[in-house]
Amino acid sequence: MSTPRIRTKAIEDVLGRVPNHTDAPSAKVSDFFGANVFNEDAMRMFLTEDAYFAVRQAIHQGERIDRKLADQVASGMKEWAFTKGATHYTHWFQPLTGLSAEKHDAFFEPIGGGRSIERFDGSLLVQQEPDASSFPNGGLRNTFEARGYTAWDPSSPAFVIGRTLCIPTIFISYTGEALDYKMPLLRAIRAVDEAATAVCQYFDKDVNKVMATLGWEQEYFLIDKSLFFARPDIMMCGRALFGHTPAKGQQLEDHYFGSIPDRARAFMRDFENEALMLGIPVKTRHNEVAPNQFECAPVFEELNLAVDHNVLLMDIMEKTAHKHDFRVLLHEKPYAGVNGSGKHNNWSLATNTGKNLLRPAKTPKENLQFLTFFVNTIKAIHNHADVLRASIATAGNDHRLGANEAPPAIISVFIGEHLSNLLDGLEKNIKGGMTPDLKTELKLDIGRIPSVMLDNTDRNRTSPFAFTGNKFEFRAVGSSANCAGPMTVLNTIVAHQLRVFKKQVDQLITKGTKKDEAILRVLRDVIAESKAIRFEGNGYGEEWVKEAAGRGLKNIMDTPRALDVWSSKETKALFADMNVMSPVEVEARHEIKLHNYTLKIQIESRVVGDLAQNHIIPTAISYQNRLLENVLGLRAVLGEAGAKKASSTQVKLIEEISEHLGTVKVLVDQMIEARKKANTKVEARDKAISYCDTVKPYLDKIRYHVDKLELLVDDELWPLPKMRELLFTR
Ligand code: ADP
Ligand code: MG
Repeated sequence: MSTPRIRTKAIEDVLGRVPNHTDAPSAKVSDFFGANVFNEDAMRMFLTEDAYFAVRQAIHQGERIDRKLADQVASGMKEWAFTKGATHYTHWFQPLTGLSAEKHDAFFEPIGGGRSIERFDGSLLVQQEPDASSFPNGGLRNTFEARGYTAWDPSSPAFVIGRTLCIPTIFISYTGEALDYKMPLLRAIRAVDEAATAVCQYFDKDVNKVMATLGWEQEYFLIDKSLFFARPDIMMCGRALFGHTPAKGQQLEDHYFGSIPDRARAFMRDFENEALMLGIPVKTRHNEVAPNQFECAPVFEELNLAVDHNVLLMDIMEKTAHKHDFRVLLHEKPYAGVNGSGKHNNWSLATNTGKNLLRPAKTPKENLQFLTFFVNTIKAIHNHADVLRASIATAGNDHRLGANEAPPAIISVFIGEHLSNLLDGLEKNIKGGMTPDLKTELKLDIGRIPSVMLDNTDRNRTSPFAFTGNKFEFRAVGSSANCAGPMTVLNTIVAHQLRVFKKQVDQLITKGTKKDEAILRVLRDVIAESKAIRFEGNGYGEEWVKEAAGRGLKNIMDTPRALDVWSSKETKALFADMNVMSPVEVEARHEIKLHNYTLKIQIESRVVGDLAQNHIIPTAISYQNRLLENVLGLRAVLGEAGAKKASSTQVKLIEEISEHLGTVKVLVDQMIEARKKANTKVEARDKAISYCDTVKPYLDKIRYHVDKLELLVDDELWPLPKMRELLFTR
C-alpha cells in the first residue's frame, strides 16, 4: 500500500537541519546600532544646517517643512542612502490590513541619449500616490476614484533595508481621511501631549512637552518550514484548525525561561542584529510558556517610533525566519491547548524635562503630580473601557481573551495593595474638607509613596491593565496587532480625561480654592467615581466574571459585538472632540474591522471544509478499508463463527470510524449552508455576527470529530503533522 509520506518527510527535514549562524557585524552592538537609520548623526553629516534644523523642528514641534527645504532633505537623504548601497526608495506605510506596505521605485531615471541620473527630490520625498485601490478603506474611497496618497512623517526616521531607502509615511485619502494606523496615532499623541502639558503646568512651569512612551513585548511561535507546508491550515490561517492535544503540552512548565534551542537562538541573533542596525533597541529574549514559543522585547521608546519599530520588527522576523528554514507564527492562538501569544504594551508619559509622570518621586509635590496622572489614567479606563476593549478585538484575539491564559475580556485595572490603600485613604480623608492637620497628614502619606512602591512586589499577571511601578502595562493586546490601534485609543481617552480634570480644577481655583487643595479634591472625586474598574483579585477566576457583572463591567466575548461601541454617538464625539478621528473615519474603521473578522472566519471555515473532505475523510476511509479487508480475511480463514471473536476490535473500530466520518460530513455540509446564508447579509455587522454565531461554532464541532479520528486511524496513514510534532520537533 502506498502512503502519503509528506508528514514523515517533513519531520525528517526538521531533524536534519543545522543551525544557520550569522555573525554580527561586530561584537559590540554600539558599533553598529542604528547604522542603517538616517538618524541625528547621519542628518548632521548629510544635511545643510537649515535642512537639519527644519527636520528637528518637525520632529519636536510638529512644524511643516517647506518645499525648498524638503528638496535639501531629499538630496541629503539620497546621498546617505547611496553610502548604504540603496538603489530604490519607497514610502513605507501601515494600511489597515495590519501589515506594512511598500512600493519600490528606482532612483535611476533615463535622461535620453543613453544616459541616466539618480533622481530623488523634495516632491518624491514628501508625497507619493501608490495605486492603492485594493487596500481596505471602509467605503472611504470609491474604488473608481482609487486614489490615496502617502505623506512623509518626519517624526520617524528613514532607514535602509537591503537596497531600499524606506521613508515612513502616513496614508490618506484624497479627501483627507486617514486610511492607515499612523495618522490617528499621531493625532492622539498630539492630543495627549497638549492635555498632559497643560496639567503639568500646575506642578512645573518648565514642562512644555509631554511624550507618550511605549515598550512592547512581542510573543511568537516558531515552526519549521517543512511542517508549515505540511499543514495547509497553518499556512493559510496561521493556526492549527485540527490536532488532538498531545499527552505532554506545557504542564511541566519546562520551556519557560529554559535554555533557548540552538536553531531558535541562531534565528534570534540574526533578526536582532538586523533590528539593531535599524535602531530598534531589542534587549530581551527568552522562551515563553508554550513549547516553541518565544518573546522579544526592546527598551521603550517614544510611542510613534516604538510603533514603527514593532511593525518593522514583525517584518524582519518574518524575512529572517525564511533564511533559517523557519516560519514565524504571530497569530494569537496557533495551537489549542497551550498558551497563545500576546503583545504587552507598557505605556507611560514623559516630560521634556526628563521626568516619567508615572514614576513616584521623593517629594510630596512631585508625588501629587504622579497621583494626578495615575488616578486620571484609571478614570480614563473606567469611562472608556468599551472603546479600549474594542481596540484589541480581532478574530485571533477572541481565542485568547478569557481563556485562562490571557486577561479576560473584562477590562479592569490592577494597581497593587499599597496604592489601593492609599487611594482608599485619600477618598475617605478628604471627605470632610481639609483641616491644616489633615493637609499635613496627606502630604506625609503622599510623600511616602516611593518607599511603599519598593515594597510593592506583588505582581498580578491576570489583569488586562496593570500598574507595574512606573508604567501601566496593557496586557490584552494580541501578538499580531499593530500597537497603534490600542495606543491611539489609550492616549485619546487619557487626553480627554486630563482635559476634563483640568477644567474641574481650574473651576475650583477660580472660586478661590488653593491649587493643591483643588487638585486633591478633584482627585478624590475621580478616585471615587472610578472605583468599579479597580480589581486586585484573580482575573482568571469564575468569581470575577460574576463580581464584574455585579459592578456593571462588561464582558464582551466576541469581536463583532465588542466593535459595536465604534458606532455609538459617544465614541464618535470622543474622537472628534480630541481631533483624533472624524465620525466618518470612526465608521470606516468599524466597517473594516467587521469585514476583516468575517474574512478571517470565512477562510478558516473553507480550510476546515477542504481539509476534512480532501484529507481527513479519504484517510479515514483508507484505514477503514484495511480493517474491512482484515475482517473479511479472518472470515475466509476462520469462518463466520470463528471470526466473530477474532475480529471484534476491528468491527468496533470500523463502526466508530463510520460514526465520526458520517458526522464530519454532515457538519461540513451544514457549515457550508451556514456560510451561504451568512454571505447573503448585506450590512457588515450582520454578516460578521452571522459568521460569529452560525459559522464559527462548526470549526470546533468538526474539529472534535476529526481529532477523534486522529486517535483511531493508523499513525502511518495520518496525513497532517500532529500537535506533538508541531510543538516538540525542533
Ligand atoms: P516584564 O513585564 O517582563 O516584567 P519589565 O517590567 O522589565 O518586564 O518591563 C517590560 C517593558 O516595559 C520593557 O520593554 C521596558 O522597556 C518597558 N518600560 C519600562 N519603562 C517604561 C516606560 N516608562 N514607558 C514605557 N515602557 C516602559
Ligand atoms: Mg510584561
